[in-house]
Amino acid sequence: MNNQKPKKIYRPKPYLISVEFEDGSKFTIKLQSLRDNCPCAECIGEEFPSIDGKKRITVPGLNTMKPGKYELKELNVVGNYGIQPVWGDGHDSGLYLWEQIREIFEKNNLIEEEIQKLENKYNKN
Ligand SMILES: [Zn+2]
Repeated sequence: MNNQKPKKIYRPKPYLISVEFEDGSKFTIKLQSLRDNCPCAECIGEEFPSIDGKKRITVPGLNTMKPGKYELKELNVVGNYGIQPVWGDGHDSGLYLWEQIREIFEKNNLIEEEIQKLENKYNKN
């Protein structure tokens, strides 16, 4: 079952976010990846039927860089559906369903080496 609520969601570092699922799988991604995969209409753009009427094309919204865009202010759990983060730029319309969470984390999962590299980078500043 992919549509399950994670056992745990936590932030091992200010720029990382991790999830653990009941089946024992664990993923860590950059906070930035979570925001970049925001599923709200404003971020992914509107969908229009294409000429053949079957496939759909997506026109992405304006991906402007605002201060605080990648800062996580709050992470609210919405019933049994998913999470709704509040970002530093005030963006809070993204509702991530558990299955989307699973997909985003699987796709953007960082290996230990990458986490180490990020750590070195952030410690320098
Ligand atoms: Zn969004």
